[in-house]
Amino acid sequence: MSNRVHNFSAGPCTLPLEVLEEAQAEFVDYQGAGMSLIEMSHRGKHFDAVANEAMALSMEVFQVPNEFAVLFLQGGALLQFSMIPMNLLHNGQKGAYVNSGSWAKGAITDAKEYGEVYTAWDGADNNYTRMPVTADIQLQENTRYLHITTNETIGGIRFAEWPEVSVPLIADMSSEYMARPLPWDKFDLVYGGAQKNLGPAGMAVVFIRKSILENCNKSLGRYLRYDIHESKASMFNTPPVFPIYMFGKVLKWMKAQGGLSAMEKNAAEKAGALYSTIDNSQGYFNCPVEVASRSHMNVVFRLPTETLEQKFLSEATAAGFENLKGHRSVGGCRASIYNALPAESVAALTAFMTDFQNANAS
Ligand SMILES: *Cc1c(COP(=O)(O)O)cnc(C)c1O
Repeated sequence: MSNRVHNFSAGPCTLPLEVLEEAQAEFVDYQGAGMSLIEMSHRGKHFDAVANEAMALSMEVFQVPNEFAVLFLQGGALLQFSMIPMNLLHNGQKGAYVNSGSWAKGAITDAKEYGEVYTAWDGADNNYTRMPVTADIQLQENTRYLHITTNETIGGIRFAEWPEVSVPLIADMSSEYMARPLPWDKFDLVYGGAQKNLGPAGMAVVFIRKSILENCNKSLGRYLRYDIHESKASMFNTPPVFPIYMFGKVLKWMKAQGGLSAMEKNAAEKAGALYSTIDNSQGYFNCPVEVASRSHMNVVFRLPTETLEQKFLSEATAAGFENLKGHRSVGGCRASIYNALPAESVAALTAFMTDFQNANAS
């Protein structure tokens, strides 16, 4: 399809073209039902099959052990910022947080409303240009979990190595969901909004260790309780039917591409191509992030001046590269290269960057 742009959006973002076309083809009359999937009961046989398949495939593709349950919840990643401390800090234990940037700060802000929370490592000290290593993280007594943001979408940093700590990890994985394998034994809960690697906005996907459900807070409004969602297989109320349906299709696409290891390899190659272009530009393009913490999903970079950045962004848009502007809080440029972004889009961008440098470097 020639009218598709190179879409480097940070989220919602590009989805596999095959998935969009398949959904389009079956949209109006879903499998001969005479209605679309979003017009039928979420308790009927069609949607039941869709939801069951998405649950099973999410466990399979992400290589999640059976000790975990998957939940499809509304409220995005942000509701999880509150649900986690509400459910887990009710008995007086503390929540430890790695402050790695904008999203981590949001998680800390919300958690403070519900329990005792402290910062176990503060990236503000180095302007959020790297993730901590294990030795940096300072845990206190009586800590229930260590919350990490595996990839900071705005700062463009990720954990290259998982922290080795004595408490369970909880991870916001929104912007690198299903882009790398996880050592599940270290985690109690992994969550993220769907709208980066998984599908359309409107859903959070949560993997929760089943053994912790019993000790979750039961004195909460029912929608806020993990144990209720798990016992009802995410059908406690009307679930986000369209995101679940699209997620199932994205999972099938991931599986056909070679699954998690293919996603991880493709991400490393796409990110590698961009970082080499930056590193080989003799300082014309500059990535402020320490090399070991460079994100494989959100590549941030600067040009020599803000005037040149504006010129770069406007010429890029004219050439069919969309959404390369950095987040408004940090400026500069950012290329988000999620699972569904074709390698050809990255190759086209690196060529464009080199041409721009040749035409504009003094
Ligand atoms: C996008 C993003 C969020 C916010 O997700 P919502 O679904 O909009 O609530 C949270 N954390 C990270 C790391 C993100 O990238």
